[in-house]
Amino acid sequence: MANLVPVTVARGDGIGPEIMDATMRILEAAGARIAPEFVDIGEKVYLSGNNNGVTDAAWASIRSTKIFLKAPITTPQGGGYKSVNVTMRKTFGLFSNVRPVRTFKPFVHSKHDAIDMVIVRENEEDLYAGIEYRQTRDTCHSVKFMSRTGSEMIIRYAFEYARANGRKKVTCLIKDNIMKISDGLFHKVFKLIASEYPDIQAESLIVDIGMARIADTPERFDVVVTLNLYGDIVSDIASQIAGSVGLAGSSNIGDEYAMFEAVHGSAPDIAGKGIANPSGLLNAAILMLHHIGQSDVAATIQNAWLRALEDGHHTADICAPNKKALTTAQFADAVIACLGKLPQAMAPAKAGDFKAMKMPKVSETTKSVRTKRLIGVDIFLDKAGANPNELGALIEKTSVPGLTFKVMSSRGVKVYPDAPNARIVTDHWRCRFEGEEGKVTNAQIRDVLAKVEAQGLDWIEIQNLYTFDGERCFSQVQGM
Ligand code: NAD
Repeated sequence: MANLVPVTVARGDGIGPEIMDATMRILEAAGARIAPEFVDIGEKVYLSGNNNGVTDAAWASIRSTKIFLKAPITTPQGGGYKSVNVTMRKTFGLFSNVRPVRTFKPFVHSKHDAIDMVIVRENEEDLYAGIEYRQTRDTCHSVKFMSRTGSEMIIRYAFEYARANGRKKVTCLIKDNIMKISDGLFHKVFKLIASEYPDIQAESLIVDIGMARIADTPERFDVVVTLNLYGDIVSDIASQIAGSVGLAGSSNIGDEYAMFEAVHGSAPDIAGKGIANPSGLLNAAILMLHHIGQSDVAATIQNAWLRALEDGHHTADICAPNKKALTTAQFADAVIACLGKLPQAMAPAKAGDFKAMKMPKVSETTKSVRTKRLIGVDIFLDKAGANPNELGALIEKTSVPGLTFKVMSSRGVKVYPDAPNARIVTDHWRCRFEGEEGKVTNAQIRDVLAKVEAQGLDWIEIQNLYTFDGERCFSQVQGM
């Protein structure tokens, strides 16, 4: 008997158990050489009092198998426990989220003819770093965390993926006209890495027009690389316009571990009805089989699945209005019945389609910054109902030798001095102090803070201001 590959499997929340059961039945019928270890993660585990939503047995299983097939997990909106999905991606260093999206015309309706793109989404950073604060009664603060290393890893991954899979173009989506420092870093690294891959066309688009074009003319896109949040949004757009969010699978790849899941969530609106499309999770399982070296089984399942679609076996989300939709279990039966058959109109999958690729390593070329110098500090205050001129006059008294108060802003816009048109609506103020580049010290910053406190003011955050190789790397105050 062939050696079985141990794989951790979680049935998840909402529609998760239904689509996982369907997927596992197909894998078994196709002869996938895997030994599943079923574990509990998600809502039920949280509700039993486990804060991270993952049982000790689940952690142990993933650490030993290093391969995780995961059904969707419910994450509450606007409060409650943190996302298990994000925890998994970050704990296991799954820096790359690869989401292939294509059309299946004329068998699955789409307004577009030929979508065939792969979204490569950064998976650990950006606003998903999960660092958020409520700072005053009126305001909150979400940290967009970006690193040069994380950016380089995902961008290199996208180019290596393109090269290994014979793809021609990598498009980078950013918003660096507004987030000049964080998205600006991603874009700079993209341009630097792109120059190492002259055989691949590189283009950059501002994310808003980029997404609009993906929704309008998706056929012009090939590989798309982008930040975590944009990547999440754009992959739902792409999979929905290709036919249904229920179709797309994804892999989360790191140096040591890999996790495979559908692009969609736990769909609580249809959970328990037995009508969900298991294809997204099945496609994730196909990616997993390739990853563990079972491309023969992966191709057999993919061909059966394509044939089932061609033969008109459709779940409700992709079913034509005049046809009867199959249940999740009936659809799985239809795919099983097609095992061993090839699609007749769509191109069949071949075991050799999957190309192993070189995993990226961070190079020294992008770590070229030599000097970092302290030039000032932004001190944030909580003060409801303040008059900016009166508050500004108080802050003027808190300068110390070598570190001088320059400007006060609220919501990023100058409100003092000389800002007669300023419209004040919050209790959150930023006071900028600057000195001579490289001469400012932490001791001076502590002296300013002591004087701020002596004025009876409530400082809630400080942010040091630095130059890197002489470049001022902090946002300007609007209106300066
Ligand atoms: P969703 O993707 O679960 O559902 C969006 C819509 O698509 C719903 O109308 C749903 O019925 C439909 N849909 C989704 N999957 C389908 C399928 N396989 N077959 C047929 N229709 C399908 O998104 P949501 O409603 O925004 O989120 C629900 C929950 O899922 C939330 O708690 C969210 O945090 C979580 N979520 C989890 C993951 C994950 O586990 N990786 C990803 C996204 C969302």
